[in-house]
Amino acid sequence: MLTDRFNRIHDYLRISLTDKCNLRCSYCNPPDLLKDHFKGLRRMTAQEIDQIVCAFVKEGVKKIRLTGGEPLVRKDTPEIIERLSKYPVEVAISTNGVLLHNYVDIFTKAGIRSINVSLDSLKREKFFAITKRDEFNLILNNIYLLLQNDFRVKINVVVMKGVNDDELNDFVSLTKHLPLHVRFIEFMPFSGNAWSREKVFSYQEMLHHISTKYQFMKLEDSQHDTDKKYLVPGHEGAFAIISTMTQPFCGRCNRMRLTADGKMKNCLFSKTEMDILSALRKGNDIIPLIKQCVWMKEEKLGGQIKTMYGELDTTKINNRSMIHIGG
Ligand code: SAM
Repeated sequence: MLTDRFNRIHDYLRISLTDKCNLRCSYCNPPDLLKDHFKGLRRMTAQEIDQIVCAFVKEGVKKIRLTGGEPLVRKDTPEIIERLSKYPVEVAISTNGVLLHNYVDIFTKAGIRSINVSLDSLKREKFFAITKRDEFNLILNNIYLLLQNDFRVKINVVVMKGVNDDELNDFVSLTKHLPLHVRFIEFMPFSGNAWSREKVFSYQEMLHHISTKYQFMKLEDSQHDTDKKYLVPGHEGAFAIISTMTQPFCGRCNRMRLTADGKMKNCLFSKTEMDILSALRKGNDIIPLIKQCVWMKEEKLGGQIKTMYGELDTTKINNRSMIHIGG
């Protein structure tokens, strides 16, 4: 079992398959970011991912989420999914939805039932302004396609003040007749993503905004949930808020991350990384490194965000951009 100094058990691994993406959201994939993709030998192969997962599963991992970049752009993603389906773990995917129509059968065959789709606007023009790609209609159709095929679908919305904070109730109204779980995410700071506290639309502001149109009730959250769930009575779906900035949930964190270039991070905001891939390639046992990385985990937000978010100085945060870490 992978346990840290604060007795938190870690059984959930998020693997970034690539740092490439077919959208260009500047909060995740900043325009002036050095486009130094993990190509060729720098990136974990399907076989290496399989070997690394095998070690994590031996140490008690029960859930794996494939993410990126955009995990579905990688050509051998079907092979990776097939390899992971042989492990006794739940496999889930986070995707921007652009390529989902190619994957319904692959997911079904591998027993994947839960898909998170990112969608920051329900307006085609605004979606284009955020992502620089005209893929809104395709993504919406792909969300319907997943629902028709009985997948559990969560929609991730990064809420930014002055950008899409006026659309929260449109997303909530989507849950009236569709069994969707919409999750509103507070905007987080990463390298080069022009974060500022003025752009954060906080958990409390979101609840207040939604209360101007809907009455809602709190749902019970499970032990490791990062989202705080709510239901509008009579709606088929639900909504939730991920309050990383104003009410972090580190006390119940069970997550570890592996970047596409094979570095392990014990927290989204961790300063340090453990080079698992190089050790694997040298033929070393990677389990002691994995254990050490978990053990060194800081109590809260990678030890980097100690003040209230309003006083945060992002120039002092040492981290990669989200697209390089894997969301
Ligand atoms: N391409 C996939 C997708 O779109 O879901 C997976 C990777 S993406 C980095 C994972 C999630 O991180 C997305 O929901 C994205 O919106 C979110 N994300 C990226 N940058 C963020 C930021 N600065 N603050 C909050 N969430 C962010």
